[in-house]
Parts: sequence; C-alpha cells; structure tokens
Amino acid sequence: MDCINIYDLLVFANHGVLKEENVLGQKFVVSVSLYVDTREASKDDDVDKTVNYAEVCKLITNHLQSNTYKLIETAANETAKAILTAFPKIYELELEIKKPWAPVHLAIDSVSVKIRRKRNVAYIGFGSNMGDRKKYLQDAIKLINDDELSYVDKVSSFIETKPYGYTDQDDFLNGAAKVYTLRDAHSFLELLSDIENKLGRVRQIHWGPRTVDLDILLFNDEIINSEKLIVPHIEMHKRDFVLKPMMEIAPEAVHPVLNSTVSALYYKLNEA
Ligand code: ATP
Ligand code: CA
Ligand code: CA
Repeated sequence: MDCINIYDLLVFANHGVLKEENVLGQKFVVSVSLYVDTREASKDDDVDKTVNYAEVCKLITNHLQSNTYKLIETAANETAKAILTAFPKIYELELEIKKPWAPVHLAIDSVSVKIRRKRNVAYIGFGSNMGDRKKYLQDAIKLINDDELSYVDKVSSFIETKPYGYTDQDDFLNGAAKVYTLRDAHSFLELLSDIENKLGRVRQIHWGPRTVDLDILLFNDEIINSEKLIVPHIEMHKRDFVLKPMMEIAPEAVHPVLNSTVSALYYKLNEA
C-alpha cells in the first residue's frame, strides 16, 4: 500500500507530567506515515482524491496545541485518532512524537513514542420484522455512520426472509454492511446495542420479533470468544439471509475459523 510520509513537523505545545511543562511549553517533533491508496489521485492528478498532507499538518498542530496531555503516549494516541477520524481515506498510520528537550537531567538526545493505529473492518448483519422495517434498518445504518469513530462503507440490498428459529412471527427484512471503525470489537458491540435500544428494541423472546437486530458477523480476522461476544457470528455460515447479502458486498471476505470465503460458504449452504 502507498504511503505518504511527513517528517519532523515542529509543534510548540504544553504536554508533560511537570507543571512547568504545562505552563512554559516546549517543542515537540512529529513524524507520521499515512497509508493511503494514491492510485485514483495519480490517475486524475487530483488532490481531492488523496490525503492533503498540508491539512494533516494543520490538524496535528491544532490538536497538540488545543489539548494538554501529561504523557506523549496519550498525545500520540489522541492525535492518531483525530487524524483517522478526519481523513477516512487513511486506513492505517504510524505516528511518532519526539520530545527533544525532555527535562530528565541526563545526557539523552531525545525521547519519543511511536504508535501504529489501524481502522478495523467490521461486517454486520441486520434485520427487522416490526413496523416500518425498511425505515428501522435505514435509521440503524445512519446511526452507525453518525458515530464519530465509525463509518459505513457499503450496504447490501435488503432481502425478504422467512423467520428463523421462532417461526410464529412476521417476515424479516435482512441485509449486511461493511463498516470501518476505530472502536475495538466490544466497544463496537456496545454501539450496536445502544442503537438497537434507541430504535425501540425490547428483548422478549430469543429469536422473537424485533424492530432492529444488529449482529457482528466478522471483525478484521479476529476470533473472539467472550461472554458477551462471539466472532465470527456463530451461526453466520448456516444462514442464507446473512450469506446472501454478504455475497453482494464481500464475497472474498474470509471466515477465520472455517478458513473459507463468504462465497465458498454461500455455495456450500445452497448445494446442501
Ligand atoms: P442470534 O445471535 O442467533 O442471531 P439474536 O440476534 O436474536 O440471536 P440477541 O438477543 O440479539 O440474539 O443477542 C443476544 C446476545 O448475543 C447479545 O446480548 C450479545 O451480547 C451476544 N452476542 C454474542 N456474539 C454476538 C455477535 N457476534 N453479534 C451480536 N451479539 C452477539
Ligand atoms: Ca441475530
Ligand atoms: Ca443480535
């Protein structure tokens, strides 16, 4: 993947554990590598299709000057988050903050912290079988996109499905979406539950009627088995209403436990 590098941006700011550092300020030196696909921009020679490094420098300077952190670890983490939030085209970055004049009274040249942060890729499955189903699904997608740490990259079409498990209920409308998020998997699940609650979901019968159900299908290539969260979703490979919309948006996505692509799982389910 292509990389845009910014070397040694000088920022005068007030981070530090000592009170004097917060008052007097000092110089910080920031370097950052931005992983972006620059092919589209090069083809058209168009700055709007890449990441404008002048804008990134402005954001870094602004962020470091309008906040005061004790640790450069925090400063680096928060700055990375601000960059990834503001520039959706950057899918990964490496950021180093150097403190050349750290007050340690020893003969060191400088201290620095270097971090790497990456956008997570989540696939979600969603469904509704109460009220205005289409509106519930559209609202849920909008609310995910409104979260400042997440954005919705692709949405499948919505398909009509007969109820699964508990069958004495109305038909479902189902679909899947690809979401980029800076949240980790558990925090992303919390976002989805909050949205379900906001849209009036009441948990009564397991697999029963619901205004909206949001499940995490895949999260990067992670395998998670916690009390609250199982990823990949434990039933995804058995459900046509999950695999069919996934075929539309991510046939090549890989199920890390079964080591199969979505497309292989879909054909296997449908020939069985
Ligand atoms: P199913 O998970 O079989 O589709 P459901 O969606 O009807 O069933 P819910 O009542 O919505 O089940 O969820 C029950 C619990 O499942 C949630 O509280 C959540 O903590 C847990 N859970 C485990 N893994 C996941 C996942 N991958 N996505 C969403 N919820 C999950
Ligand atoms: Ca579900
Ligand atoms: Ca669920």
